[in-house]
Amino acid sequence: MSKKINNKGLIERVRGMHDVMSNEYLIRKKIIEKAENIASFYGFEPIQTPHLERAELFTSAIGESTDIIEKEMYKLKTKGGDNLVLRPEGTAPIVRAYIEHGMQTKPQPVMLYYHGSFFRHERPQRGRSREFQQFGLEILGEENSIVDAIIIKTLLTILEEAVGIKPISVHINSIGDKECRKVYQKELTTYYKRKTNDLCKDCQYRLKSNPLRLLDCKNKECDEIKQGAPQIINYLCPGCTNHFKELLEILDASEVSYFLDQYLVRGLDYYSRTAFEFFLEENPDEEKMSLELGGGGRYDSLAHILGNKNIPGVGGAIGVDRAIKILSEKKKLSVQTKTPEVFFIQLGSNAKYKSLFLLDILRKAKIPIKHSLSRNSLKSQLKIASKLGASYVLILGQKETTDNTIIIRNMETTSQEIVPISKLVDRLKKKLK
Ligand code: AMP
Repeated sequence: MSKKINNKGLIERVRGMHDVMSNEYLIRKKIIEKAENIASFYGFEPIQTPHLERAELFTSAIGESTDIIEKEMYKLKTKGGDNLVLRPEGTAPIVRAYIEHGMQTKPQPVMLYYHGSFFRHERPQRGRSREFQQFGLEILGEENSIVDAIIIKTLLTILEEAVGIKPISVHINSIGDKECRKVYQKELTTYYKRKTNDLCKDCQYRLKSNPLRLLDCKNKECDEIKQGAPQIINYLCPGCTNHFKELLEILDASEVSYFLDQYLVRGLDYYSRTAFEFFLEENPDEEKMSLELGGGGRYDSLAHILGNKNIPGVGGAIGVDRAIKILSEKKKLSVQTKTPEVFFIQLGSNAKYKSLFLLDILRKAKIPIKHSLSRNSLKSQLKIASKLGASYVLILGQKETTDNTIIIRNMETTSQEIVPISKLVDRLKKKLK
């Protein structure tokens, strides 16, 4: 028996993937709707890119020595020999789309928002799955730090108001540009090389492959070493220093508080200058480690890597599933769904046949109803109606079907009136007022 079939003979869902249902589906939908409204207010427009992209899009953009490229991409080869991947992140596809659709000719900057599934073959654990939803923003064609501030402020507002989690702590850093980062990386490598034997296995590898990521290590043994490491802020060139200084001044003036996090480097190769992440400000007594709710940064060289163009850009994304997970750990989640006040009952085969015709009249009149069309007896249908708390019940029996009428029954008073089908919508609307 294949491993994908469990001991009850059922074919199970793929590990790390989830079915989204009932309350969670509605919560997610609401969050996305609110996030879209907030993003539109700030001037972002929607974009949807495909789930499948060419592998080179990510391998050239993200960097070979990153977890995503080394081990997390879902790859497939088509019959025609194309190497495709399920998108692991949203920025590279959007920069591709910007170049491919000639968005340079539009008024700049171009501000885009997106949401949807992303795929990474990571070890499933709390707040980490293999298919996850992100809501993201990108601003292309502008270098000024005001747009970095717009991204941070908009994502923060989405977390606080659309998701409803507070207080959020904004961690921020500048990782310089290609030139000043080169100098810093050299210093960092020299510092860490002297401590190689004391580093964890991962960091020994990072030292060779991607030294900036040494600062990402959460391992206790490496923490002490990290404390003494050179700080990137001291190596920024005047251009990067001014860009960062201006961003912080804008955030101050916007009353966005932040935490200067010298260890925040973000793993992907395409980032430059601004890097930021959002965390829930946890109660220090709580045991659970604070999960990153979102993050992003500036990527001024990405368009050059992908299309030989000089297009500055900045963006970020929040993890919708993770935000919902945290929300559900903090408080009970529910979306208030309105129970329709009207329940439709049909009795006899002629009435059943006419049911869909009748429901259509009510749908077009925007009168929400519930029904149980597969049932036959009055008793069982009335029982469901009262369980749902319906105020009115519509009863279509054999006689009413022949007469083209219907019974409206008030569930509280049990009084009933017979109305012609042609008057049903008017009568119901008056009663429902
Ligand atoms: P990243 O694209 O890695 O910057 O991630 C942005 C946000 O997406 C993170 O802050 C998380 O909230 C969320 N995220 C990233 N990876 C996963 C995952 N494997 N499962 C759930 N959420 C994720």
